Amino acid sequence: MPAGDTIYALATAPGRAGVAVLRVSGPRAGAALAAVMDGRNLPVPRRAHLTSFVDPVGGEILDRGLVLWFPAPDSFTGEDVAELHGHGGPAVITALLQALGRLPGCRLARAGEFTRRAFENGKMDLTQAEGLADLIASETEAQRRQAQRQMSGALGRLYETWRSDLIGALAHLEAEIDFPDEDLPGGLLARQKPVLERLVHAMSVHLDDDHRGERLREGCQMVILGAPNVGKSSLLNALAQRDAAIVSEQAGTTRDIVEVHLNLGGYPVILADTAGLRESNNTVEAEGVRRARALAERADLRIVLYDCSAAAIAGAEVLNLAGDDGVLVANKTDLAATAPVHGLPVSSKTGAGLPELLSCLEAAAKLQMAGSGPAGLTRLRHRQGLEDCQSALRRGLAETDEELVAEDVRLAARHLGRITGRVDVEDILDVVFRDFCIGK
Ligand code: GDP
Repeated sequence: MPAGDTIYALATAPGRAGVAVLRVSGPRAGAALAAVMDGRNLPVPRRAHLTSFVDPVGGEILDRGLVLWFPAPDSFTGEDVAELHGHGGPAVITALLQALGRLPGCRLARAGEFTRRAFENGKMDLTQAEGLADLIASETEAQRRQAQRQMSGALGRLYETWRSDLIGALAHLEAEIDFPDEDLPGGLLARQKPVLERLVHAMSVHLDDDHRGERLREGCQMVILGAPNVGKSSLLNALAQRDAAIVSEQAGTTRDIVEVHLNLGGYPVILADTAGLRESNNTVEAEGVRRARALAERADLRIVLYDCSAAAIAGAEVLNLAGDDGVLVANKTDLAATAPVHGLPVSSKTGAGLPELLSCLEAAAKLQMAGSGPAGLTRLRHRQGLEDCQSALRRGLAETDEELVAEDVRLAARHLGRITGRVDVEDILDVVFRDFCIGK
């Protein structure tokens, strides 16, 4: 990637808004700013300055707004950065982008390129860059808090502490290898092994988090299951307060999986409606049933529904499906002559019992996502890196030869370094930054 390029992009969301912010970063950012300010002097760094924006080619005034100037290295990217705050209309934005595009050495930024430069210039580690992406994507309070913690560097610091412990152990091991006859205290290998064991244990505790951080990032998957016509789609709609699923009197109409995203007390939930569970000769319906069962297997929570107006007790299959950890729901209480024996009584039609059901789901969501600690891991990438690190350490702990132990410790440190981006990570950068938007 040519670091010498000066990049620019709209930093705010496209569309109509009061203000639109364009950001320019790179060695020609100052020249670009001066050009759109019609050659006037650059403003005082980090102070808002009101100016006209002109087309550097024809001299036409395009807009009037504020500019901010952040000379390197005290900027988001660590390079010279200029911000133009213009009016947030599509034509204004296009005119300003075109004006910047006409300047020599300036080009439109690629997705995530500003943040990638910030990483490459040492402004943040990879976990912080991921935290920033998560913050922009976060939709609920709990997600925002988790992203903010990661962006502040809490996770990266934890991994860096472990890595420096490993590097310390490695230095001792290498001293023993390089100077075996020197007057070094004996049994160094024996003394370093407890250090490695302690780290393996600390990583196990960290990894044994029931995937809370990852679930919070992606949303807790809940699935509604039950026989056809018990009111699964109606319940999904009632909970989502909109018509996301097809509600129909004809049995077997939901053949694919319909999902809605809910915010339950700050926790993100993906609620899925599924095909009614029954034997079917219709291949499409049978496929829907297969998918429903597969989702039931991998979901974080099963909500199992039965029609309590047909029978006040749930059948064996329903009880089985709910098991000990599912939520059993008795629907259609408005039609039932007697109170249901099993499950939480609700009516998707009248809304009776729904607040109680929602509180129960919220408690379940919280239980599965809350308390990932001040620095919980949030991505499979972190999990894999730590597992690879642990495997290397376990291999090292089983060795008796210092050189082989040292080699495994070196590898383990490298796996940790790849999580934060402290070692050569060129191969994973595209994966980390591809989820960013342009302008970030
Ligand atoms: P699904 O096949 O399990 O998804 O069931 P639907 O949500 O399509 O509902 C089947 C039928 O039951 C529809 O006619 C709904 O209007 C009706 N229904 C669903 N829930 C209730 C309820 O709580 N009370 C009453 N009276 N009817 C309901």
